[in-house]
Amino acid sequence: MSDERLQRVLSCLSPVARQLDVLPSGRTAPDTPYVKLDTNENPFALPAIVMQGALNALERQYLYPENDNISLRDAAASAYGVTTDHVIAGNGSSELLGLIYRAFLAPGDRVAMVSPGFSFNRKLAMLQAADFVEVALTDRHSLPIEQLLSSPAADTKFILVANPNNPTGLFVPVADIERLVAQSDRLIVLDEAYVDFAPDNGLRLLNRYSNLLVLRTFSKSYAAAGIRVGFGFGHPELIGRLRNIQNVFNMNVIGQAVGISILAHRAAYEDNHRHIRHERQRVTAELSQLGFSVTPSHANFVLARVPEGQDGRWWQAALEKRKILVAFFPDRGLENCIRVSIGTKSQMDAFLVAASDISTRLETRHC
Ligand code: PMP
Repeated sequence: MSDERLQRVLSCLSPVARQLDVLPSGRTAPDTPYVKLDTNENPFALPAIVMQGALNALERQYLYPENDNISLRDAAASAYGVTTDHVIAGNGSSELLGLIYRAFLAPGDRVAMVSPGFSFNRKLAMLQAADFVEVALTDRHSLPIEQLLSSPAADTKFILVANPNNPTGLFVPVADIERLVAQSDRLIVLDEAYVDFAPDNGLRLLNRYSNLLVLRTFSKSYAAAGIRVGFGFGHPELIGRLRNIQNVFNMNVIGQAVGISILAHRAAYEDNHRHIRHERQRVTAELSQLGFSVTPSHANFVLARVPEGQDGRWWQAALEKRKILVAFFPDRGLENCIRVSIGTKSQMDAFLVAASDISTRLETRHC
């Protein structure tokens, strides 16, 4: 296509599409030689029985997957104590977040999120030409309920709360979530991507409140990020509308089979979750020794503020030189932080050795 023709094509795109950055190709970040601690995966193999379910599903590769994910939704409904009409299944919870934005927001509408939060939401709001209101979490232990109940958050179509939150890892009591849901006449989207690493969850609130949608994913606590399995739970009036705009055959046969099998074998993950909590504590303690200030986390990652006078992006690059990938966020207030996913013991050993080495070199340079 000539450049002139391309310019004409681009100038006809919607204003939202014109605002989008053109992404450079992603870098490949395979497990090796990198220690990949930047996207909060769970680095363990699927339990053997779940793996067998995936292999069996491959034998049905010539068929379309089951319509409307009905068996998977049935299985999730009985595992979590709701009806099938209360459940939607997706290719990860990010597909479901996308549906919520598309179904419930029109251009010019507002949506609110407790901030700092999962930044993908900002892009989803932008794609709907919606206003994105961020309500700062000022107290580590409780939700800013008054602010979420007053303008501008109160003038939104829905309010997003992730508990535990990403990228902080902070967990607020479910009683706080309940106060917000009970007092608000807005839809509250409670994103529980990391909740299996936390002491409590908000699913029981669904029995009492119809203005709540709860999102879950099997990417973090069930080691299935590459398979893409997520769920939304809520009133059938909301869930039915979301299912209505979902692609037919949105999931594949492997995702459906693995989802069902994980639901049947959740107990097989107890050691996995115990390991993550244990390593989270070890990494928190050792990073604190190195002068980092670590936010108390209830997720499978920690947010660590680098020592006084140092810079988060610099630390990310220094670790990457040592083949350790961690996340950095340029957002205000997070410039001096890195987020480190909790991996295997040997991955965390490698990270801690690298962090300690970088600290020592920095100290000797300053002497
Ligand atoms: N919500 C939160 C808070 C997340 O951190 C993530 C992944 N980083 C997701 C949702 C989406 O996860 P997935 O699409 O893998 O289910």
